[in-house]
Amino acid sequence: MIVAERKPFEEIWNMISHYNRILVLGCGTCVTICWAGGEKEVGILASQLKIAGEKNNELIITESVPERQCEIEMIQELKDKEGNIDAILSMGCGAGVQTVAGIFTDIPVFPALNTTFLGMPEAEGLWVEMCSACGDCYLAYTGGICPVTRCGKGLLNGPCGGTRKGGKCEIDPEKDCAWVLIYRRLEKLSMLDLMEQYREPKNYRAVKRPGIIRATAR
Ligand code: SF4
Ligand code: SF4
Repeated sequence: MIVAERKPFEEIWNMISHYNRILVLGCGTCVTICWAGGEKEVGILASQLKIAGEKNNELIITESVPERQCEIEMIQELKDKEGNIDAILSMGCGAGVQTVAGIFTDIPVFPALNTTFLGMPEAEGLWVEMCSACGDCYLAYTGGICPVTRCGKGLLNGPCGGTRKGGKCEIDPEKDCAWVLIYRRLEKLSMLDLMEQYREPKNYRAVKRPGIIRATAR
């Protein structure tokens, strides 16, 4: 899932305060799960905008939460609202914001969130980065634990030698050393021979910007 967090209200208000008819647009998928842009967060932000703009008699805040902001069909359904709004405040991830901007071509679309990483919910209110979308997945060699993302130095041949007592990372004692996790997992799977194989430096040419995948068949 994509993890995001809301921008500070002051930053949002500076972007949007001179518009009157504002649609606050959430997203019912990833950013709902990470408590950043679901129905509840849209309602809270809409209330904050109404309070901040209470002296503006022309201020009209509307709310909508499509299932996915990054799907053209789901945003197209909202297109008939365009004549009634001056600006959209997107509470989707960066892909959502750009999808909406591509459809609502005549009005500005502003991001209310900072999109941060690809991750998973590890505990209540805690999301952890898991994948950097490197385009050349190594998980087969590392017991399903990503060294690119979860090792503080992104080492493909670890550990670095600085691992702290208790298996914590030398860069951040709050975090587990990814290579300790990898070792333990491979040991459990009787695959420790993988630890002895040297991995060539990563070819970041696999990461092409912008990334495009064309399916040949379905
Ligand atoms: S190796 Fe690359 S694709 Fe695989 S999980 Fe790590 S960052 Fe993601
Ligand atoms: S202690 Fe472990 S996770 Fe931290 S930088 Fe070194 S190898 Fe990577």
